[in-house]
Amino acid sequence: MHAPSPQGSVGKAPVEGRGADHIAPDCAGQNFYAIDRGLRDLVRLYLEPDDFGRLEPHFDRLGILAGGRLDELARVADQHPPVLNARDRFGRDEDWIDYHSSYREMEQIAFGDFQFHAMSHRAGTLGMDRPLPAVAKYAMQYLFVQAEFGLMCPISVTDTSIHLIRKFASAELKDYLLPKMLSGDVATMWKGTQFMTERAGGSDVGAIETTARCEEGEWRLYGDKWFCSHADADVALLLARPEGAPAGTRGLALFALPRRLKDGRRNAYRIVRLKDKLGTRSMASGEIVLEGAVAYLVGDADRGLKQMMEQVNLSRLSHGVRASAMMRRCVNEAFVCARTRVAFGKTIIEYPLLRRQLLKIAVPAEQSLSMFLFTAKAMDRANAGSGEAENLLRILTPLLKFRACRDNIPVATGAMEVRGGNGYIEEWVNARLIRDAHVGVLWEGTSNINALDIVTRAVGKSRAHRTLEAALKRLLDNATRMPAAFRNRLRLALDRALVLAERVAAEPSLEQSARQAASALYHVTSSILMTWEAAQPGRDARRALYAKFVLEHRLSAQDPLEPHDGGWEREAAEFVFSQRQVALPEIAGLLER
Ligand SMILES: Cc1cc2nc3c(=O)[nH]c(=O)nc-3n(C[C@H](O)[C@H](O)[C@H](O)COP(=O)(O)OP(=O)(O)OC[C@H]3O[C@@H](n4cnc5c(N)ncnc54)[C@H](O)[C@@H]3O)c2cc1C
Repeated sequence: MHAPSPQGSVGKAPVEGRGADHIAPDCAGQNFYAIDRGLRDLVRLYLEPDDFGRLEPHFDRLGILAGGRLDELARVADQHPPVLNARDRFGRDEDWIDYHSSYREMEQIAFGDFQFHAMSHRAGTLGMDRPLPAVAKYAMQYLFVQAEFGLMCPISVTDTSIHLIRKFASAELKDYLLPKMLSGDVATMWKGTQFMTERAGGSDVGAIETTARCEEGEWRLYGDKWFCSHADADVALLLARPEGAPAGTRGLALFALPRRLKDGRRNAYRIVRLKDKLGTRSMASGEIVLEGAVAYLVGDADRGLKQMMEQVNLSRLSHGVRASAMMRRCVNEAFVCARTRVAFGKTIIEYPLLRRQLLKIAVPAEQSLSMFLFTAKAMDRANAGSGEAENLLRILTPLLKFRACRDNIPVATGAMEVRGGNGYIEEWVNARLIRDAHVGVLWEGTSNINALDIVTRAVGKSRAHRTLEAALKRLLDNATRMPAAFRNRLRLALDRALVLAERVAAEPSLEQSARQAASALYHVTSSILMTWEAAQPGRDARRALYAKFVLEHRLSAQDPLEPHDGGWEREAAEFVFSQRQVALPEIAGLLER
């Protein structure tokens, strides 16, 4: 354990809502649930009323933690990254990682108090008599990540490892692993992780060189894993090629690798180095050498990648949620700053150029919120047996991962700029938000890999865009309170985005347009969702204005040599920046312009 340095001790939050000597405040001390109008409206809409009633106090509690204690801990943990110890004092390769006490306290909140890893697998978390729906789980992740991003990797990968083991492992392996992994006792529980990437290939998984040999009735692994987040997890799910299996992805099998053997000895692999990373600094990512480590085969030996892709897809959804959460934090920070910082005698939120900058931060954040909740809802329906929802999930997951993670980067930079020079200084959260944002376009598939997945597989093979089309058209038909002309424009944009995606999927020469097609699908989906949400009785209608911003700026032709239309945008901005509920009749005229 590190000795906490004077700078490292967790300080008191600044006085709520007040800066000092001209310096604009940050969001410290705020309740991130209470101040999030979009989230509060939408969890009520997407959750069953009974679940919402039971879970709302926990959203509220987590909102307070995320704006308070968790935020303080996250700042300190980021400044005190984990440290690898390769050997003990007797020269044994008993490698272990030291974490700062701030990280340990966050683990206690995540794995002990909220039990994120177990909440969708068993009853008994947060007082629930059944597992939580996906909508609730991801809403909780969204609140948590507004304070701490790094630890969400171990949390999520434990959750997703449990999913794979429950679904594919033998009864014996389940009996061995699940009670430990589902435990809420942080001192004794087993956490999970996932190692795929090797030097030879991250995107190109078929290039994996780790081999599995069956020796005296047990599998032993030999090789090198190049990127291993949550490197000291108690059990890692990984891909390796059994000796004699074919080359490429077809020859890969899925294994569970325990850190300790049944007799308590350390398994035969070593963490040889921790990565010095741009972001996610609180969490340990390392390199691992497998030297005949004992592992358990999970599921069918010739379906390793197919099985692993279930974990990848769950992680992709969580990554989209994390990007959305970080964007929300950026919005909150930017707005609190813009409402208080004074320049040239006015608060900066009064300046048209700054308002435009704020909209560029707020709109992608709201899009991603709608996208992840709709995706999580599809997951809940798929889990209940709907084939239609499963197909929907097939396309929504990579769409969310691809676009939300990309949007997170300019949003984080934009929020820094709103804070001015202070945003560049490490004691404000903006610098960390920028560093953390970038990993989203790398892990669980780069932007290109996700865009290709959308176009070639989700559209080309699974035809999931047609399921999406039907779902979105139903929502538009249902949003009868919205002006017909606006709904018609959205219908037209949807039709064109679908044609584009189909063309790119069908014509290999158009592969370079995969990102364009994926972005178009994301933008049109999110704008229809926000329109439908705004049309629901009692909901804040400004979501329809966000939809219009997306329609005008992301789905319509722009002339770079014409000035931006200040007319409707200026009026719309008044509603967006007002801190009251907006009713549909107030903005209906704007939607038609
Ligand atoms: C902090 C961090 C933690 C990580 N943790 C883990 C972990 O726990 N487990 C794990 O398994 N992995 C982990 N990774 C690895 C990550 O998933 C890979 O880095 C990622 O998948 C990209 O693989 P690569 O680095 O080999 O890049 P490459 O696959 O070599 O890609 C290089 C570039 O080529 C592009 N490219 C590749 N193929 C194509 C194509 N067909 N068409 C167009 N462009 C293409 C990519 O988009 C990218 O821009 C982690 C990475 C980071 C940064």
